[in-house]
Amino acid sequence: MIIVGAGFGGIGAAIALKRLGYENFVILEREDDLGGTWHVNRYPGLAVDVPSPTFSFWFEPNPNWSRLYAPGTELKQYAVDVADKYDVRRHMRFGVCVDGARWDAETNTWRVDLAGGATMTTRFLMCATGFLSQPATPDIPGIDTFAGRVMYASRWDSDYDFAGKRAAVIGTGSTAVQLIPEIADLTEELTVYQRTPMWVMPKLDAPIPAPVRALFRRVPASQRAMRWVTDVTQEMAMLIAMWRFRRFRRVNEAVKRIAALFRHLQVRDAQMRRDLTPAYDYGCKRPTVSNDYYRTLAREDVNLDTTGIDHIEPDGIVTADGRIREIDVLILATGFDVWEKNLPAIEVIGRDGRNLGKWWRETAFAAYEGLTMPYFPNFLNSAGPYSWVGLSWFTTVECQMRHITRLFGEVRRRDAASFEVREEANEKFLDDMTTRIADSVFALGNCARSRSYWFNAKGETPLFRPTSVAEAVRAQDTFPLEDYLFS
Ligand code: NAP
Repeated sequence: MIIVGAGFGGIGAAIALKRLGYENFVILEREDDLGGTWHVNRYPGLAVDVPSPTFSFWFEPNPNWSRLYAPGTELKQYAVDVADKYDVRRHMRFGVCVDGARWDAETNTWRVDLAGGATMTTRFLMCATGFLSQPATPDIPGIDTFAGRVMYASRWDSDYDFAGKRAAVIGTGSTAVQLIPEIADLTEELTVYQRTPMWVMPKLDAPIPAPVRALFRRVPASQRAMRWVTDVTQEMAMLIAMWRFRRFRRVNEAVKRIAALFRHLQVRDAQMRRDLTPAYDYGCKRPTVSNDYYRTLAREDVNLDTTGIDHIEPDGIVTADGRIREIDVLILATGFDVWEKNLPAIEVIGRDGRNLGKWWRETAFAAYEGLTMPYFPNFLNSAGPYSWVGLSWFTTVECQMRHITRLFGEVRRRDAASFEVREEANEKFLDDMTTRIADSVFALGNCARSRSYWFNAKGETPLFRPTSVAEAVRAQDTFPLEDYLFS
């Protein structure tokens, strides 16, 4: 088996396979080490924005988190520790970039093309490349002519000296909200270019003192109890803000009022408060948490520019009103290409020459239980339609581990050479998902001005599984094995 990607998705799949006794698999990773997003992203302020007890494998609690919202370096260390503990690292090959894969019906195998021209053959293939692995380059006219330094938040240069520099950040998403307060302390002057404001909530963060960490080590149930609280809070937030919008519209309104109060307390300037007020419902777009983002924007040496960028010139940014602001360094916190380059992340040609990317676009984005597709035998795609469960990526990965356990357990029991999900099962699952979305903020809320990457070009939102985590987990433990064809 080949798994593409050595982030938590690939690590989780590998652990599930090893538990079943599979050892004959390799994990191919284009970067030079494991950890996925937590290996690649190194910008100042990088941290989780979901409480750490929830943002980890249920079966591998980490008593070492230093804070309730752990910094990114601790996530990277956690990935290393989990991979070592479960003996997954020796299956990994780094610096190997997969370009595409084609199903060979004669041999019941996948031919996997690598960058550089080499090919590999495998019976089973899993694409575990995540949703946020292809940085997006903004299509701003003149961006290539900028003569100063351009830095992507997701490709951070830690050696760059910001002292005395006039910097600009384009983007105000989750990354920028973490980065801006850190970078403002380093630069001479910072200008933040906002196109769409975010919903920002207070961050209930605190250090986890050493005696508490020691307690977590000695009495694991104490950490479980803490996780129970953070899990339930996250789950309620997601259900109320997104999936049960029809029923909880008033609660959603109350959340917006809390956010407005928070803005009021942090920003004195009324015009700036208006500029920072989202014109869409809470939950349409990924909300974030921060105690210092708004305060940083209110600083004397920080400017918030909401005019809109017209173009970029060699020495600065020109806004729609014709003003130019000269800068030395341009920081792009402009997010990721979640759709065009990422669904799927590699070209996949299945049975009868079906092209996965084309098929999704010509029919509908669909994947049975968010993982498998008809006409793509022995193939799993971890970051695809309806795969995203809950707010923590780990809930998605663990659901997939459960699915893999049952699916590959059956493959082994039958000594099958291939599996393929039945078309009717895929359609039934898609029907169920689209019916449920009708109750969500995406269908009933005001999302028109959110510019949310959760929506595709057709205005659909097929990334998330619109159910509770508990329902998603149950489904993996109970889906009918007859939904697959084994041969
Ligand atoms: P993002 O949420 O997609 O934000 C990108 C920002 O760039 C947006 O403000 C966007 O404006 C702006 N932008 C893009 N193109 C632009 C253009 N041409 N002109 C002006 N502005 C432009 O990306 P992100 O902040 O990297 O976050 C992506 C995801 O990563 C998050 O949703 C979250 O899931 C994850 N994340 C997680 C953590 C964590 O702690 N767990 C931390 C960071 C990120 P518009 O909104 O107007 O498009």
